[in-house]
Amino acid sequence: MPKKYHKKPVQQQKIAKKRINFLFQHANEVFKEDSNLSDKYVKMARRIAMKYKIRLPSSIKKRFCKNCHQFLVPGVNCRVRIHKHRLIYYCFGCKHYMRHPVK
Ligand SMILES: [Zn+2]
Repeated sequence: MPKKYHKKPVQQQKIAKKRINFLFQHANEVFKEDSNLSDKYVKMARRIAMKYKIRLPSSIKKRFCKNCHQFLVPGVNCRVRIHKHRLIYYCFGCKHYMRHPVK
């Protein structure tokens, strides 16, 4: 089958968005028992987002590390600080800093 590069239908994107939200919700629920599983859910959600060319909302972007893609839980495997009107997320896994502007 030849590869198609055009945009995916809106209906499909809607379903994909729902699946991403669902995956992150589950990642949060299973984190206490198995953080590896949460990381796997993040991977799946990212793959869906890339496939359907979905921009992840900032609320979801804050839930995983941009560098090592592990699921982040403030106080457990990441640190959150406010500095100059920005949220600074520090990942304990790969020691990567992420900055999110505060509106
Ligand atoms: Zn990381």
